[in-house]
Amino acid sequence: MNIATEAVQVGLEWDSRTGAVSVPIYQTATFRHPGLGLSTGFDYSRSGNPTRQSLEEGIARLDGGARGFAYSSGMAAITNLLLLFCSGDHIVVTEDLYGGTCRLFDRVFNQFGLTFSYVDTSDTAAVAAAIRPETRAVFVETLTNPLLKFADIPALAAICRQRDLLLITDNTFLTPYLMRPLDLGADITVYSATKYLSGHNDTVAGLVVARDPQLAERIYFHQNAAGAVLGPQDSWLVIRGMKTLGVRLDRHQENALRIAAWLQAHPRIAKVYYPGLDNHPGHDLMKRDARGFGAMIAFEVDDHALVEQVLLRTRLISFAESLGGVESLITFPEVQTHADIPPELRARLGINNVLLRLSVGIEDCDDLIEDLRQALES
Ligand SMILES: *Cc1c(COP(=O)(O)O)cnc(C)c1O
Repeated sequence: MNIATEAVQVGLEWDSRTGAVSVPIYQTATFRHPGLGLSTGFDYSRSGNPTRQSLEEGIARLDGGARGFAYSSGMAAITNLLLLFCSGDHIVVTEDLYGGTCRLFDRVFNQFGLTFSYVDTSDTAAVAAAIRPETRAVFVETLTNPLLKFADIPALAAICRQRDLLLITDNTFLTPYLMRPLDLGADITVYSATKYLSGHNDTVAGLVVARDPQLAERIYFHQNAAGAVLGPQDSWLVIRGMKTLGVRLDRHQENALRIAAWLQAHPRIAKVYYPGLDNHPGHDLMKRDARGFGAMIAFEVDDHALVEQVLLRTRLISFAESLGGVESLITFPEVQTHADIPPELRARLGINNVLLRLSVGIEDCDDLIEDLRQALES
């Protein structure tokens, strides 16, 4: 089945009592037992809730994994995955990582004796060179933020298999509709479902899918033990958002490609990063491994003074953090999303004082281009 179809089917289980087409929101903390030693399959909502389970089974199907898990945020999902490791373990990670993930690794899990090496994971040789005897995992953002570097997942998977390392992929920017990392050899995918999966800038949520049932069992143990689960209301909102994943992403991408080309031709724009443009370093590899290029664009204006002008004068496009929703958002990574990255690393990555990041929404593309034009030229 196509992923777009599969996404529409999420939550459409047969409700034998009522036949409800939309999965009910089981707003309950606990469940009555039919008898001593008997259970309906649900005992307590931290351990399992039917609405959350629909979402968890849905994302597992979309990603082709053994089992899925839903958390109260993307960061809670990543935190839960770090519980797979012990003091002394080392993890190789993407250097231009989401700022919150970097903060979690360096300022929280560092205290528990986990160590992290930051490398350009779009450079497979650099990943191999960073592996040490105590390395246990490679944690990769499939498409990075904000410069949209694309990792060669099959090549990284081969390295990880050879050395018995877990390959964990943060696939937030692509979603299973555009790429399925587990099919390419990754062990675990993690999502900030706050972004494209829920898609409406109205819910904070995280999802995890594991390929192997035994690994999934360990993750379930930690999900229940640590308890940062997604509530039934928010599980339902994510399910509702996921149903339109295919149409939304088709439109997001169509808009992004046109806007990237328009920006590239604009005299006040110095540089455009979008993997759908054939001058982007990840373009060919993405054509091989993914079904599209996503809808995130980064671009440099030719003068720092234009940064504030664009942020304040765009009317349709909101100056706000986050991404992946139907509404277009623009942000200034150096100050807003990547302030926690050390300045030297920021400079090396190209996150500078003229770089803006645009999350292209599903509005009419001519309206978006007109909004950018008047903001740049007024
Ligand atoms: C937003 C984001 C996260 C964190 O998710 P939250 O839902 O905000 O906790 C992690 N990784 C990436 C790539 C993100 O964009």
